Amino acid sequence: MGLEEKLPEGIITTQLETLVNWSRENSTWPLLFGLACCAIEMIATGSARHDISRYGSELFRASPRQADLMIVSGRVSNKMAPVIKRLYDQMSEPKWVIAMGICASAGGPFNNYAIIQGVDKIIPVDVYVPGCPPRPESLLYALDMLRKKQAKDTFRTYANLNAPPAPVTPDDIESLAALRQPQLA
Ligand code: SF4
Repeated sequence: MGLEEKLPEGIITTQLETLVNWSRENSTWPLLFGLACCAIEMIATGSARHDISRYGSELFRASPRQADLMIVSGRVSNKMAPVIKRLYDQMSEPKWVIAMGICASAGGPFNNYAIIQGVDKIIPVDVYVPGCPPRPESLLYALDMLRKKQAKDTFRTYANLNAPPAPVTPDDIESLAALRQPQLA
């Protein structure tokens, strides 16, 4: 039972886009950083019990230049926002973002002046994971969703990536004005 039996002729034809997408789906390397309690669940996802290796994503990279997936695991404070934005900008294209947990997705219980109400205020997000905290299985499911998205990517998508301007520049974030949400009365 092996590839040789499935492909007795030893020949397979496909599209280059399909081949590239297949390799990206199976070797998405996350950036090595965590923000709060959700990070503990993200770390647990890398354990043998949950086996993130089956996605080819066990290589958490300490350099943004070697990572193509940012898992935002925890609340994003105003102080941390410029750092996250800069790290995201330093990641090479194509790159993806998972907002892990309700804090990263929408601020969670921290509707106050110090916490950004969703990391999508500063960087684009591909997959949102609900929960407080989400379990490792939820993060793995998010990786599944991301793989489906990656499978539909085209070269044209990446060719157009430089067209839209960045939603917020690090300087904007340092001013904080663009990030503050109206507070509930
Ligand atoms: S979603 Fe819950 S577990 Fe995750 S960072 Fe927020 S408070 Fe912590």
